[in-house]
Amino acid sequence: MSSFFYSVVTASRSSGIGDGLTYEGNGTIVPGSIVRVPLRNSLVEGIVFDVQSEKQEELRDIKRIKELLGDQPLLTEAQLRTVRWMAEYYVCSLRQALSVWLPPPPWKRVLPQEITGYRLAERRLPVRGKKQAAVSDVLAGKEWMSDDDVRRESGASKSVVQAMLKKGLLIEERKRGSLVVSVAGASPVKELPVLTPAQEAAYEQIKDGNKPALLFGITGSGKTEIYAQLIADAVAQGKQAIVLVPEILLTEHSIARFERLLHRSAIAVIHSKLTERERREEWKRIRSGAVSLVIGSRSALFSPLHRLGVIVLDEEHEWTYKNEQTPRYHARDTAEALARHAGARLVLGSASPSLESWAAAKSGRYALVRLPERYRQLPLPRVTVVDLAVVQFGTLYPFSPPLLRALEDRLRKREQSVLFLNRRGMASAVLCLQCRRRIVCQESQLPFTVHHTVQGRPYLLDHSTGVSADIPPLCPHCKSPRLRAIGAGTQKIETLLSTLFPQARVIRADSDTLTDAADMREVLRKMREGEADILLGTQTVVKGLDLPNVTLAVVLLADLGMSLPHFRSGERVFQLLTQLTGRSGRAKDGEVIIQTFRPDAPEIIAASKHDTEKFLDDEWKLRLHSAYPPASGMIRFITRGEGAQERAKRLHASVQRAIAAEKSDAKSYVAPTFWGGGRQWHVLIRGTDIKCLLPSLDLKDVSVDVDPLETM
Ligand code: ADP
Ligand code: ZN
Repeated sequence: MSSFFYSVVTASRSSGIGDGLTYEGNGTIVPGSIVRVPLRNSLVEGIVFDVQSEKQEELRDIKRIKELLGDQPLLTEAQLRTVRWMAEYYVCSLRQALSVWLPPPPWKRVLPQEITGYRLAERRLPVRGKKQAAVSDVLAGKEWMSDDDVRRESGASKSVVQAMLKKGLLIEERKRGSLVVSVAGASPVKELPVLTPAQEAAYEQIKDGNKPALLFGITGSGKTEIYAQLIADAVAQGKQAIVLVPEILLTEHSIARFERLLHRSAIAVIHSKLTERERREEWKRIRSGAVSLVIGSRSALFSPLHRLGVIVLDEEHEWTYKNEQTPRYHARDTAEALARHAGARLVLGSASPSLESWAAAKSGRYALVRLPERYRQLPLPRVTVVDLAVVQFGTLYPFSPPLLRALEDRLRKREQSVLFLNRRGMASAVLCLQCRRRIVCQESQLPFTVHHTVQGRPYLLDHSTGVSADIPPLCPHCKSPRLRAIGAGTQKIETLLSTLFPQARVIRADSDTLTDAADMREVLRKMREGEADILLGTQTVVKGLDLPNVTLAVVLLADLGMSLPHFRSGERVFQLLTQLTGRSGRAKDGEVIIQTFRPDAPEIIAASKHDTEKFLDDEWKLRLHSAYPPASGMIRFITRGEGAQERAKRLHASVQRAIAAEKSDAKSYVAPTFWGGGRQWHVLIRGTDIKCLLPSLDLKDVSVDVDPLETM
């Protein structure tokens, strides 16, 4: 028998073999299958990555694959290729890249259980009585039938079967069921969307395109309807779809939309609150072929769909699409690789695209599809910007007079308001109202955060260096005494609201008050049914709401989150403001109030004018000019624990040597990370071609973060 050579990635965590070992087999095993192979003195399970008919010269003493488990591969060719792409692009081992595609080992637990069944004996013996005759009729001409099926179809009892076994009329055989049990698509689409002409045009463009599509559609333009139509098309062709959302617990309404499209049993919803067991059961159900649509957060991309037709990333600009553990993948880029290998359509939807996607669209790598009008041509809300530095608040901070007037107006008209706050805690930074600068730490030049001693006395702390200081009486920059601790938590605002508007019914929604999807559903129900007047929430909660009676959306303090000197902070604030302003006026005329200490910041001006394209074009020019991503590449190396600082500094020195040796344009620097309390350090490299620097570096015990989002 001729031999074939298989590369097998084992579940065993031993280092040095993360990219697989070569085994010999007989040529019938398909890549993606699960096998048992000898490793040292035991048998371990592994996934077959590829097969070759010739072995590489230098390999000797190649062991044989012991056993093939299961009747079908767990992963498709396209999925295996994507695993390879991830390992290469994100600089990790194949096993690390593979880990996100399968439930935790032992992997064979995803295989169907072995079940008992029977066949008729070759030598026909006379049967006794009607029951035995019925069993023999049921099995006649069949190779094998499970115990359950035999008894159900023949009506015979266990003892009849036992008697026949004893007599040698039946032969018992155990078999593993098939991974694939059903193929969905019988009565697929329940209710097709009816697209508006503008939506229809965007849909046609996406459908006929041959590259990833960036669906740049303003808030309320009906992007979900377009996704629904694309999914319906895929299902009609017997294919399957994945819809990724930034945070599944907050996506009830889009799930409801897809439940109108497809039968609930053809949909799988994957979220982070699933137990390991539930996750494995969902994995099996999806692999069985019964599922046409998987909805979930970033990891849903790795669902075992074998007939993938379309992938949707909704709100593609969201940061939750980046995995902050090895493999540190970004779902957008990984989806692009998977869609390419699987021949599937990829749609990235956003009202405020990421600079990455904008650049890809401008360069022609993505097709740019615009959807510039709201459903039923409703106008975007009018926006008022309130300069917080010139308002005399007294004790009412952060409620400015225009805000108070607008809230009163909604209460009188029985319309609803949504108030967003960017953070839960209390005060966060100290700002000078005169020169509008923050008090920064001398050592790191990063803004101090306000903390309170146990006695309640406020002081300043720099998280990156651990340096603390008293709050100075005068601004260190301009000597003005007009210093203010900015930021107020949702709790404090709730209290203030109840004093200002005792008659208003207020709901507070942040991660303190919401624990699961049911809580969120209750909030939405109360708002929909008019049982509340004001919804006060953190941005993560409120960002995606589609509530028709909301005519006022308020950003209490647009500057939180901007306090860090991060090259993406303008982009992030812009995205946030766009999402938040999009909550108002979704069914009738709406208004938005943005309160800020920086009314002249480009992102605030652009968001208040709904001028997304200008913001993106300007920001792109800025990135090009300053050589920051996506105009350049970026890699971050992280060291932790014992000797983190020395190891980071040593690594930085070798990066510098590599830059000189390669004559690279790259820049690099080393620093403690912002939240690491001095125990976590990182080295950042930025430049056009930085991957070429990697081979010369010793990356043992170093986390590699390619295209990092966190760079502080
Ligand atoms: P986006 O995600 O682009 O902000 P949505 O998909 O949430 O917008 O749509 C906004 C609202 O308009 C939703 O309530 C949606 O049901 C409604 N809508 C949009 N397009 C249609 C359509 N073609 N038919 C019916 N309702 C629509
Ligand atoms: Zn000042």
